[in-house]
Amino acid sequence: MLANLRAIVQDVNSARSLPEVLSIIVKELKSALSAGVCSVYLFDPRDQRYVLMATEGLRQTAIGKIRLGMREGLVGLVAAREEPLNLQNADQHANFVYFEEAGEAPYHSFLGVPIIHQRKVLGVLVLQQTTERRFASEEEAFVVTVSAQLSGAIAHAEATGVLKRLSLSGRGKSREATFHGIASCPGIGIGRAVLSAQSSDLTLVPERYCTDSASEIKLFREALDAAKSDMQNLGAGLQEKLSSEEFALFEVYIRMLDDSSLVGEVVSAIESGQAAQTAWSAVILKHVKTFRKMDDVYLRERAADVSDLGKRVLGYLQKDSMTAAVLPRRAILVGEDLSAAVLADIPVNRLMGIISLKGSSNSHLAIVARALGIPTIMGATNLPLAELEGQELIVDGFKGTVISRPSRTCRRAYLQRQREEKLLNKDLEKLRDIPCEMPGGQRIALWVNTGLRHDTLRSLRSGAEAVGLYRTEIPFFMRSSFPTEDEQMAIYREQLQAFAPRSVTMRTLDIGGDKALPYFPIDEENPFLGWRGIRISLDHPEIFLVQIRAMLRAAEGLENLRIMLPMISSVGELECALDLIDRAYQELTTEEGLRIERPPVGAMIEVPAAVYQVKALSRRVRFLSVGTNDLTQYLLAVDRNNPRVANLYNSLHPSVLQALNIICQQANAAGCELSVCGELAGDPLGAVLLTGLGYRHLSMSASGLPKVKSMLLQVPYSLAKELAQRALKLSDAAAVEGLLARELGRPELTKLYQPSVV
Ligand code: PEP
Ligand code: MG
Repeated sequence: MLANLRAIVQDVNSARSLPEVLSIIVKELKSALSAGVCSVYLFDPRDQRYVLMATEGLRQTAIGKIRLGMREGLVGLVAAREEPLNLQNADQHANFVYFEEAGEAPYHSFLGVPIIHQRKVLGVLVLQQTTERRFASEEEAFVVTVSAQLSGAIAHAEATGVLKRLSLSGRGKSREATFHGIASCPGIGIGRAVLSAQSSDLTLVPERYCTDSASEIKLFREALDAAKSDMQNLGAGLQEKLSSEEFALFEVYIRMLDDSSLVGEVVSAIESGQAAQTAWSAVILKHVKTFRKMDDVYLRERAADVSDLGKRVLGYLQKDSMTAAVLPRRAILVGEDLSAAVLADIPVNRLMGIISLKGSSNSHLAIVARALGIPTIMGATNLPLAELEGQELIVDGFKGTVISRPSRTCRRAYLQRQREEKLLNKDLEKLRDIPCEMPGGQRIALWVNTGLRHDTLRSLRSGAEAVGLYRTEIPFFMRSSFPTEDEQMAIYREQLQAFAPRSVTMRTLDIGGDKALPYFPIDEENPFLGWRGIRISLDHPEIFLVQIRAMLRAAEGLENLRIMLPMISSVGELECALDLIDRAYQELTTEEGLRIERPPVGAMIEVPAAVYQVKALSRRVRFLSVGTNDLTQYLLAVDRNNPRVANLYNSLHPSVLQALNIICQQANAAGCELSVCGELAGDPLGAVLLTGLGYRHLSMSASGLPKVKSMLLQVPYSLAKELAQRALKLSDAAAVEGLLARELGRPELTKLYQPSVV
């Protein structure tokens, strides 16, 4: 059964359209269970009915014709109850409806299993038999497993299919479709989709066409040669370690790449107009499928080899296309799993929007995008990636929606919304040089979070009083090895100089979790609970000491450096890091004669363990800064990067507010400077609660700062205090949001945190 399940899932995942997905499911499930019939019914929201979409066993002419209401028939019943129904004599059930046109007469037993994705019933899988016997409980469990595993693929294929149908029926006319994701940077972006070729997933290759087949064939042959020489080198390197049979496999791989029929198939597809990547992936996927269907186990296993080779060649083809690609002037960058690193070497002034299928609003890509003010949608899991290349898209970063092929009316409405946002931002610019003082006299320091070179100017223009968090790992992303001490020094000096005399809090390297360096891969089962932040720095003092030395040298003569340590979870860790900082300082001053002041050192509070050690930590550092992004993820046990649980991730959860309250009380009692540098500080509503709890320094993205300032200039300090106290007593984040919406619902405030609807 497990082998059957694996085969079905693999085949479905490599299918390229909804009909193909459904046809694989019905064929393979019917054969795996030796059933008489296997059918799939999918919900059609237009008329609220379940429609027969694919069948093996019933008449094909019934497809699309059998349509059942929400509670009609056994299919409607399964969907309504959201649980399996296993009947020996289906025709005797009160809900049974007979469809003569389907040829259902001889079938008695019935097993219906709902297909549910993200709590929504997409449809029903049905198996039928002529004999009057219930399906065995193992068979029922198998169908439930298949359904649960495939629901995501069906949802995705459905979305893809909708878009395809719309574009086919459109015949050049605009037919818009809307897809949903997680709103991750507010704003409206309008532009053409450009696919980031980061993934070597053969099924995600877009359907591209070419005008110059000859040069496309040349690219293809070069990619083949490069992959071949990889295999030769790899084989030669491993020759001594492998048995002769194992070594022979390399020969087989190379022969596959030389195979004139395989190459010929791709070349003729290119000659007929397809781009090399499209032609190659289609041919390889076809061969993978053929191998998977073979009876011989050895040959069946070769499917993985063909797929692996396919990916290698694709990798080379993508490399070429990336260097040749010129970003259009108004580009929307779309990718399967974009990381913050992609923004490092892209002309960001051409980026109107970013969409990633994976990740969430607290992934680092989203944080960097917010710093740059680029409308961003994360976790757009159902976006038909492969078909978007070159299409016009609208990214609504307020609502978290993507609109493809927008109609003229829709585009006009969004352009209007864009203009309104621009006007509001222009208005807010006037507040730049006004100190942030809340009515009632409470002064709040607004700082900025930085990391990319591109955001320095924006940060300076925002009116920030200091840099509260400079993420040093970001410049580390753009390289092929760790930067040297001198290279780091130059980068840090530029940052310190740009903001001097304002202070710059530089956080030491915080990699791990969703931040991987290309040249320092960390492969872990549970990366957010693994080797992250300070843990890596302490295990690699040679990397940490170089970084500290570079920071100290960069600050010479400027004296505006502060050093901050991420992911501190115990006093011992902090002391070790402080010792190393001390060592670097002594080396530079006493041994190398540099004249620099000892910079203030601080720790981040972003791990629950640290919340309860604020007092002990305060005694050893000059300042503390709360990282609400990680603190929220660890307190709520919700992966900040996982779109599936993104709805549970909320820093306004009363438990997070309670933790923030404890931290503030403890730090104040110890007389230790305290700030917040997580994203909550840059949310106008979050900022009100934080000031109400007693926080006086808030650090945020430059693009969010003006709205926070405007909010705090209008909300009396006494009201912020009262709201914070009331929020602490509420039961969940929705209740806190409700309270804030009620109390801060005036239009001049709502425009700062709640965009008008298009
Ligand atoms: C945080 O965790 O809140 C934080 C500021 O650090 P990062 O988002 O870089 O993990
Ligand atoms: Mg963090």
